[in-house]
Amino acid sequence: MEEDQKRFIERGSHKGKGLAVFTSGGDSQGMNAAVRAVVRMAIYLGCKVFFIKEGYQGMVDGGDNIEEANWSSVSSIIHKGGTVIGSARCMDFKERAGRLKAACNLVKRGITNLVVIGGDGSLTGANLFRQEWSSLLDELLQTSQINKTEREKYKQLNIVGMVGSIDNDFCGTDMTIGTDSALHRIMDAIDAIVSTAYSHQRTFIMEVMGRHCGYLALVTALTSEADYVFIPEMPPPRDWPTKLCNKLEQERTAGQRLNIIIVSEGAIDRDGKPITAEMVKQVVVDNLKQDTRITVLGHVQRGGAPSAFDRVLGCRMGAEAVMALMEATPETEACVVSLDGNQAVRLPLMECVEKTKAVAKAMADKEWELAVQLRGR
Ligand code: ADP
Repeated sequence: MEEDQKRFIERGSHKGKGLAVFTSGGDSQGMNAAVRAVVRMAIYLGCKVFFIKEGYQGMVDGGDNIEEANWSSVSSIIHKGGTVIGSARCMDFKERAGRLKAACNLVKRGITNLVVIGGDGSLTGANLFRQEWSSLLDELLQTSQINKTEREKYKQLNIVGMVGSIDNDFCGTDMTIGTDSALHRIMDAIDAIVSTAYSHQRTFIMEVMGRHCGYLALVTALTSEADYVFIPEMPPPRDWPTKLCNKLEQERTAGQRLNIIIVSEGAIDRDGKPITAEMVKQVVVDNLKQDTRITVLGHVQRGGAPSAFDRVLGCRMGAEAVMALMEATPETEACVVSLDGNQAVRLPLMECVEKTKAVAKAMADKEWELAVQLRGR
């Protein structure tokens, strides 16, 4: 109760603060719910709110890409997949010259609070931007692109991140926005396939997304009663073809009419070489002569309406992100809003990004146990 009272912020108490929200990197279901929550919470608190369209590219290009948002501009988007404000990969932002243009565009609109919804790349870019902010403003002043008053007025840039990714590949959060919806999509597809595979006693192999993270494959395997699963963080033993075939045979002998194998798109063996759905099929066909089919789900996993969980997750994270920005001081580190149990919490952004990158490094170094340990719960 005491905690709730401390967190209460009065309507209109941050009047006139400039805040912008953008989505960057790969899209995911639930991003719109997050955008909506950011806009409405910020308006409630009195901020002047902007969309930045097409991710960092819109920030660099400015113009119509930075558009003021109002209460109704986020009506009827909560149920839509993808992101209505667009997302893009942007090479310009990776160069200081691009970030200089972006800084100028933000200052000209009075924006000093940014909410970035994206993956670890987008968050890394945001952190760099914040670190450079002071020197970018100095350069803009020296080249007379901004004046002294602007330099002083907009000297502090606050940044908060949220992770939108169907892969659940970010360390620090129990779930990223979009993962739950992707799982629903995958389950629907598996249920459809199972009924036909059952009729014909087939083995089916399903490739699901997750280039560096096996979460989707692992949960899919659990929830579809799969016989075998291949994920990047934990490659199978070297004799996996034998083990796989033994397992499939054992199930058929026990009376099972079909077999299910889930392959993460980033699955690898102990030498770091890809294990593809095609390779798995070949092993099954060569050894067991089973009627084996592959389904690659692809972008269907990213598409469609977000689940209730992702809508609520986006709402809660979006509201928390705005609160974090409003409470930021010059000493506050850039943070990422994460889910811990059922609580939206704030964690240091770069610490989480570095931990996420450490998983990739452990995998590159073939330190599988470390990779699994770093991935967390
Ligand atoms: P994700 O955010 O999904 O991980 P990317 O890694 O492609 O996707 O990053 C999205 C965008 O974020 C990039 O196109 C680029 O504009 C920006 N970005 C990524 N890494 C950096 C970086 N190290 N410095 C500056 N900008 C970056």
